[in-house]
Amino acid sequence: MVIAIDGPAGSGKSTTAKFVAEKLGFIHINTGAMYRGIALKCIQEDVNIENVSQLNNLLTHTEFEFSRESGSALFMDGVDISTEITSVQVTDFVSQVSAISEVREKLVQYQRDMAEGIDVVLEGRDIGTVVFPNAEHKYYLVADINERANRRKKEMEAKGEVVTLEEIAFEMKERDRKDSTRKHSPLKKAEDAVEIDTTGLSIEEQVNRIVEIVNKTIK
Ligand code: C5P
Repeated sequence: MVIAIDGPAGSGKSTTAKFVAEKLGFIHINTGAMYRGIALKCIQEDVNIENVSQLNNLLTHTEFEFSRESGSALFMDGVDISTEITSVQVTDFVSQVSAISEVREKLVQYQRDMAEGIDVVLEGRDIGTVVFPNAEHKYYLVADINERANRRKKEMEAKGEVVTLEEIAFEMKERDRKDSTRKHSPLKKAEDAVEIDTTGLSIEEQVNRIVEIVNKTIK
């Protein structure tokens, strides 16, 4: 079974997807982490994203694996990149990389292969619209921008990073604008997705809303 969770930056997708997967015994695939991984590798290897052959070469030689042991950790070419991909540099660059059709084709295929024949919760921007348009369950999470920025600020503070609320809100709005106006697979709600506004909801409430609906269809 595929459970698709999409939504804008900071809408609660990752935390919700992680716990929904844990509760149902499904595998959690964070597709945003994969786009971040490609952005990170372009920075590390100084790849010019406008040079199609350089970019294709990088894409052909990149492998991803989500750890089943250590939560939702992402390994790229055998290295755990979970922390590095959350840097400000990667966050500021990722929407440019994810708008490129070659990048999307490669990662969408990868995501479909990873989910083949297993029970998964995939989260991202285009899961219910493009990656798995026939997913049994589709959710679209939204939340007020102030709440989204506040959540991200707390996460960053926990890692010792100091950024103002205004800077975070600006970055999120900018990324949402780029993600929802791009030509290929823009961020949008699938027509048949259930919208959940997570503003004011606890993590447990967000998770339970989805788990309850899914459980009804399983039993
Ligand atoms: O989910 P997260 O905020 O980590 O995603 C980082 C970026 O990856 C998004 O801003 C978007 O540009 C890209 N992305 C995408 N399609 C997905 C998941 C993420 O384009 N399915």
